[in-house]
Amino acid sequence: MHIVIIGGSFGGLNVAYDLRRLLPRKNHKITVIAKEPRFIFIPSLPWVTMGSKTIDEISFELKGPLNSKGIDFVASTVSSIDPGASQVFTTTETFDYDYLVVATGHRSANEAVPGLGPFDGPGHSLMSPAEAEEARDAWTAFLENPGPMVIGCAPGASCLGPAYEFLFEAHHALKQRKLCHKAPMTFITPEPFLGHFGVGGFGAIRQFLEAELEDRDTRYLTSTAITKITEDSVETADGSVF
Ligand SMILES: Cc1cc2nc3c(=O)[nH]c(=O)nc-3n(C[C@H](O)[C@H](O)[C@H](O)COP(=O)(O)OP(=O)(O)OC[C@H]3O[C@@H](n4cnc5c(N)ncnc54)[C@H](O)[C@@H]3O)c2cc1C
Repeated sequence: MHIVIIGGSFGGLNVAYDLRRLLPRKNHKITVIAKEPRFIFIPSLPWVTMGSKTIDEISFELKGPLNSKGIDFVASTVSSIDPGASQVFTTTETFDYDYLVVATGHRSANEAVPGLGPFDGPGHSLMSPAEAEEARDAWTAFLENPGPMVIGCAPGASCLGPAYEFLFEAHHALKQRKLCHKAPMTFITPEPFLGHFGVGGFGAIRQFLEAELEDRDTRYLTSTAITKITEDSVETADGSVF
C-alpha cells in the first residue's frame, strides 16, 4: 500500500507521522511531496516581515527527520493529479498511490481586490514566505520615508490574526524609532468587531483590542470592505478613500 501526501507543513506532516505510527512499515509506504524542501513555521512570518528573523531561521530541512521515521520525502511541485489512474504528477516524477492526502494549504485570492498584491499590485501581504520577504523589503524602505499606513484584511479573509500581529509589531518598531507621528495608522477589517476572527471572538478580546488600538491612536473601521488598493490609497465599499 502506498500513501502519498502532498504538503510538508502542519497538515501533511501530522498525517504522515500519525499514519507512520499506526501502519506497519513493511506493508505501507508513505511518501510526502512538498514544493519546498524545508518545513517553514508560517506563524513566524510576521517576524520575517519585521526583519527580526530570516526564512532560514524559522525553517528546517524535511528530508532527514522524515526519513529517520521511515517516511520518504520528495521536494517537488505537484502539477496535476489523475484520480482515475491514481497517479500524482510532479515536475520531475510520477507517483502511483493507493491513498492520496492533499494538504497543500490555502490559496490567497489576491485577485478579489484590485491592487491587493504584492506581486501584481501595490499592496503587501505576509501570508506566504515569498510575500513576507517582499513585505520586509517594503517595510525597510518605508522606515526610510514613513507616511500614513493602512493595515487590514480583505473581505472574505479567513486568516485575520496576522493583520493584528503586523499592526502591533509595526507600531512598536515605529515607537522605538520615535516615528509614530509620521506614520498614523488606520486599521480596516470586515469583522463586525475587533477580535471577531471569524469565530465570534473569545473572552474579552474585543474590549482588549479596542483599548490597545485607542492607546496607540490607531483609527479602526469594522464591518468595512476594502475594494481597491492603489500606490497611495485604499478605497472602501462606502466610497471612502484612505
Ligand atoms: C502570518 C501567519 C501567521 C499565522 N499565525 C498562526 C498562529 O499563530 N496560530 C495558528 O494556529 N495558525 C496561524 N496561522 C495559520 C497557519 O499557519 C495555517 O493554518 C497552517 O500553516 C496551515 O497548514 P497547512 O499544512 O494546511 O498548509 P500550509 O502551511 O500552507 O502548507 C502547505 C504545504 O503544501 C505544499 N504545497 C502547496 N502546493 C503544492 C504543490 N502544488 N506541490 C507540492 N507541494 C505543495 C507547500 O510546500 C507546504 O508544504 C498563521 C498564518 C499566517 C500566514
